[in-house]
Amino acid sequence: MTPPVFRFAPSPNGHLHLGHALSALLNFDMARAAGGRLLLRIEDIDRTRCRPEFEAAIYQDLAWLGIGWEEPVRRQSEHFADYQAALDKLRAMRLTFPSFESRAEIAHLVSDRESHARWPRDPDGAPLYPGTARLTGEQEREARIASGDPYAIRLDMTAARDWAGPLHFTEAGAGPGGESGEIAAEPEHWGDVILGRKDIPTSYHLSVVIDDALQGVTHVVRGQDLFWSTAVHRLLHSLLDLPVPVYRHHRLILDADGRKLSKSTAATGLRELRAQGVTPADIRRLAGVAE
Ligand code: GLU
Repeated sequence: MTPPVFRFAPSPNGHLHLGHALSALLNFDMARAAGGRLLLRIEDIDRTRCRPEFEAAIYQDLAWLGIGWEEPVRRQSEHFADYQAALDKLRAMRLTFPSFESRAEIAHLVSDRESHARWPRDPDGAPLYPGTARLTGEQEREARIASGDPYAIRLDMTAARDWAGPLHFTEAGAGPGGESGEIAAEPEHWGDVILGRKDIPTSYHLSVVIDDALQGVTHVVRGQDLFWSTAVHRLLHSLLDLPVPVYRHHRLILDADGRKLSKSTAATGLRELRAQGVTPADIRRLAGVAE
């Protein structure tokens, strides 16, 4: 039997904190317990926010925690051609369209719609795409792209949903409301999600799905904040004919205000805690991961 493959996939846009330690330690422990492999992936598609010094710090902090991973590390910014190929495939299936509205235009469209009734939000609380770019003719699309206008490539959710039919995934952990077992994926709650942009031919959703497949990941262990995104990922597996991993979403570590940790601070940053004399065993205790 081939060994299970786990992965830890941080973005180098800040220093690791206790929430990352929880995720990395769970992946490491599960891979070890199952005689499996642990991969490390650097999710650095956002070239404006990711920095090499944060990437270097990730390696140091994980090594300090006693976590080992396989080399070479996959760095997403080196694989844009893989994501572009997937976008091309979805385009050939007529499941994507370019939209040219700016953020301000989208905000305006949403407030316009809201003068009648509340416009729907996605599971992260952002308004669904309110535009009608799906209906723009091919000639106009090509002319605007050729003239250099910025654009986003969106999934035509209704068409994609029709193409794929009913979808499910296996949740081996629990979603934020305790969801577990066979979960019906309902990606339509995200609307026409962005899969790429003029300057970056990918998005979080697209690259995570392509990479998990290319790297042979069998078990995705990550925070509950990504539970609802799994429906979009499941849809992309179906459209791109990719294997479907098992998902295990874990609890989040919250700050004093009950919010998910977003940046490393003196109380939660692994480097800061290390400088205060905290040991890797203490980090396990603080993150609630038994030895
Ligand atoms: N790169 C994502 C993050 O740092 C994690 C992606 C995933 O595990 O699917 O939140």
